[in-house]
Amino acid sequence: MSKLEAYAHADPGTVLGVIEESGRFMAEVVGPVNQVGDTVGSTLDSDGNVTTPPGFKEAYRQYVEAGWGAVPFPDEFGGGGFPWLVAVVMQEMLASASMSFSLCPLLNQGAIEMLALHGSPDQQATYAEKMVTGEWAGTMNLTEPQAGSDLGAVRARAVPAGDGTWRITGQKIFITYGEHDLAGNIVHLVLARVPGAPPGTRGISCFIVPKYLVNDDGSLGARNDVRCVSIEHKLGIHASPTCVMSYGDAGGAVGYLIGEANQGMRYMFTMMNTARLSVGLQGLAITERAYQDALRYAQERKQGRAIGAPKGELSPIIEHPDVRRMLLTMKAYIEAMRALLYTNAVSIDLARHHPDPAEREARQELVDLLTPISKAWCTDLGVDLASVGLQVHGGMGYVEETGVAQYLRDGRISPIYEGTNGIQAIDLVMRKVPMRGGGVVADLLAQMEALGPELDAAGEELAGIGPAVAGGVSALREATDWILSRGPAEPNDALAGATPYLRLAGLVIGGWLMARSALAASRLLRTASGADAAFLQEKIGTVRFYAGQLLPQAVGLLPAVTAGAGPLFQVDLSGVTLA
Ligand SMILES: Cc1cc2nc3c(=O)[nH]c(=O)nc-3n(C[C@H](O)[C@H](O)[C@H](O)COP(=O)(O)OP(=O)(O)OC[C@H]3O[C@@H](n4cnc5c(N)ncnc54)[C@H](O)[C@@H]3O)c2cc1C
Repeated sequence: MSKLEAYAHADPGTVLGVIEESGRFMAEVVGPVNQVGDTVGSTLDSDGNVTTPPGFKEAYRQYVEAGWGAVPFPDEFGGGGFPWLVAVVMQEMLASASMSFSLCPLLNQGAIEMLALHGSPDQQATYAEKMVTGEWAGTMNLTEPQAGSDLGAVRARAVPAGDGTWRITGQKIFITYGEHDLAGNIVHLVLARVPGAPPGTRGISCFIVPKYLVNDDGSLGARNDVRCVSIEHKLGIHASPTCVMSYGDAGGAVGYLIGEANQGMRYMFTMMNTARLSVGLQGLAITERAYQDALRYAQERKQGRAIGAPKGELSPIIEHPDVRRMLLTMKAYIEAMRALLYTNAVSIDLARHHPDPAEREARQELVDLLTPISKAWCTDLGVDLASVGLQVHGGMGYVEETGVAQYLRDGRISPIYEGTNGIQAIDLVMRKVPMRGGGVVADLLAQMEALGPELDAAGEELAGIGPAVAGGVSALREATDWILSRGPAEPNDALAGATPYLRLAGLVIGGWLMARSALAASRLLRTASGADAAFLQEKIGTVRFYAGQLLPQAVGLLPAVTAGAGPLFQVDLSGVTLA
């Protein structure tokens, strides 16, 4: 990566230093506030102020002072200019430490990207630098009661004030960190309609609406006409305030148009890939934390006698095959998810900075294809595997004091927000797979198939991986051909198969990336020794488990992809009216 001019300063030594140091910070400063965040949660007072749980303010202050939030942003805004890949590695650790805490920087990231890509120089000068440091925090205000997945139904209004500013009125719901006490100012990005806007998504504009207006000298001015009217009581992420925001109760909140009117959705799409990748990462982060706890517990908890253990002795549960299966399932999926998410992140960096325009374009296409898979596959797995981690704990997992139930509750939101996983699957089959007449997905399939001969030629230590990858890729090819041929004529059939198709794609792409790492590990093993050799052996063993026991599920998903919509509409689900 440091071979790219833009990242020349990000040599491997420097990057490793940043990752190690930030990891220590996440573990020592952010990790300890996670559980209190869950039990105490954020609270709202009668004046509309939100107080975050004990320790959050102090941890956030240290986060800002250390400059961790600034690492990936451009240096012209005071950022570190590091590759997106580095940001993703750090985000995983932050979300593992506390998912609730990580959401404030995450929403800020989306707002910064929007300003950096589409804000005017004046808007960037006013807001970007303070947001990059984290002194001010950004939010994304899209959702309204009648406009969730379908943002074309947004009703919030913006009218020109005659002085170049706008007056915003309306209500937004589910706004993450819409109000809080962590940052000096909150910069809301709000979707609204201007007078005469076309209906649907073509008539949506994006506005900056700061909590405090900013004076010409950069100091904070009057309080804007926006307030938090309530916060949600919810299943998890209790520390992250999910706010109902009211704009314009006193006549209209002052807003500043970003770019051109009616282009809001187009702008949103340009920052969506990184936002969705970051949410996909939450699935990985939650699983990693759940896995670490489950592994520790399985090593300590003694029950029953494992086959072959001395008579009269209880064995640690990790000695039982079924517990090992649970742990290895978590570990193997973690490595596959990480490989997918990192590939996605590297492609973002190359799409932005590779010197060859053709390579930039190819990488952007890959990002577009992989992003819905990264988001949905990883967040669905996050929920499933947090549940597996809880299962390893037995009854102790179900009671709150071990903390593992929190991972399941916290992780459950990730398949819902930033576009539900159902919407990701639709995006994949209706927009991404058909890109370039199916050429983008065909390029990826060809790349996966090209690994076959190398796997076939590999030694006994990689036995089984080649056939499993070949079987998976062939199922994905068949499913893809079906989607491409069926989608245009019978869109409902393609839509019916969308979710199993996405899962199949995640499973197979994950398997292909795992196989590549097994090949690399086997090459490196020729010269490695000690802890390095042990790590490489462990990698190969994990890939073999994935190939032998997880990847074969791909073939089983094929009938669900190609079944069409018929069976879904054969059963009458409307007949029974519940009182
Ligand atoms: C804790 C939390 C934090 C959030 N943070 C933010 C935030 O910071 N900013 C913000 O703007 N929003 C935020 N949201 C809102 C979130 O993005 C929406 O909840 C999400 O987009 C889904 O919208 P909805 O809840 O209206 O569900 P709906 O759109 O009503 O969907 C209900 C179900 O129907 C399915 N569905 C809907 N339409 C279709 C279709 N066309 N085809 C197939 N299936 C469909 C969905 O997949 C889903 O399963 C947050 C939500 C929560 C709960």
